[in-house]
Amino acid sequence: MRRVYLDHNATTAVHPEVLAAMMPFFGEHFGNPSSIHWAGREVKKYLDDARERVADLIHASPQEVIFTGGGTESDNMAIKGVAFALQDKGRHIITTRVEHHAVLHTCQFLEKMGFEVTYLPVDGDGLINLEELRRAIRQDTILITIMFANNETGTIFPVKEIGEAAREKGVIFHTDAVQAVGKLPIDLQRLPVDILSLSGHKLYASKGIGGQYIRKGTKLFSLIHGGGQELNRRAGTENIPAIVGLGKACEIAKRDFSQRVAHLQTLRDRLHQGILSRIPEVKLNGHPTLRLPNTLNMSFFYIEGESLLLNMDLEGIAAASGSACTAGSPEPSHVLLAMGVPPEIAQSAIRFSLGWANTAEDIDYVLEVLPENVDRLRSISPLYHKRKKN
Ligand code: PLP
Repeated sequence: MRRVYLDHNATTAVHPEVLAAMMPFFGEHFGNPSSIHWAGREVKKYLDDARERVADLIHASPQEVIFTGGGTESDNMAIKGVAFALQDKGRHIITTRVEHHAVLHTCQFLEKMGFEVTYLPVDGDGLINLEELRRAIRQDTILITIMFANNETGTIFPVKEIGEAAREKGVIFHTDAVQAVGKLPIDLQRLPVDILSLSGHKLYASKGIGGQYIRKGTKLFSLIHGGGQELNRRAGTENIPAIVGLGKACEIAKRDFSQRVAHLQTLRDRLHQGILSRIPEVKLNGHPTLRLPNTLNMSFFYIEGESLLLNMDLEGIAAASGSACTAGSPEPSHVLLAMGVPPEIAQSAIRFSLGWANTAEDIDYVLEVLPENVDRLRSISPLYHKRKKN
């Protein structure tokens, strides 16, 4: 059976060039970069080099980039780090209702510690109202944390305008760019962002490695104490193979950027148009144009996204309903509900997220298999029969 993987927003396969770059660091180059002898010195060079490559992709200086254990850790370090550093100045944080749980649950934790959090609503396309953001900023606001692009719908936030609003009031701006890095141009020379989170495994590097950009002069407490690694911000011996891999993945993302984006967008639009022409009563979730080039989230009315997903899995197709971290839970997605999508339509949503290795044949296979599965599930759906009678 053909196997088609369309769940790249959940995770990606390590790129062959990344894997090749990582391999020597499990054996030949095994040193601890903090050691002063030859084994350590040799590895330290590669650590510095990887930092430069990550910085280069987002137009930052290497002194502003540290390595972490992944996107979740970067988000926690940013939000708790600012909260703890600035709690004497104020205890108010602004975020949105559609953030990843790495941000939402961190904010909820801080609420239990006495901080106050404003969760901004979004419109039907998943975007916040900038006026509402400006109005929400108070004297005691210390942090705005808003994602670069949404993991479920791909909707892209107006990061520049959000950063400008934050800067005007002297508030720190953190953005979770886990889904954006490598898929959107990010220039931190031009964007007023203070802290940015990224994750290796969404970008063809390995799992358990992430990065954090911290603009020079940004007040942030560290959460992991020990040795002085990572500019004293995150102690612990560095995961060198994964770091070298992330550096390579960033180098490739920069090298292949235009070609990758064009490829993803072409395939995504082929899938979207193909679904619209073959299946009635469907709906796009997310902004029609301000959207990640690889993401297509659609509702198939009258059926459960979860059932469709299982049926597609039997045909060798991997996609997602809701976000990967909440898959398996019967609750409709908090992102779609926040966008005002009715619960039964939210529950019928499927997210297709494409990667560089996908082909037109992959998409055509999905378009061949999907309509018959939707038809079959609709034929046994009480909702569908009720609708037909009315
Ligand atoms: N933020 C966003 C927007 C994500 O999509 C994810 C993963 O799905 C994360 C954070 C968490 O990243 P990680 O899996 O590297 O911890």
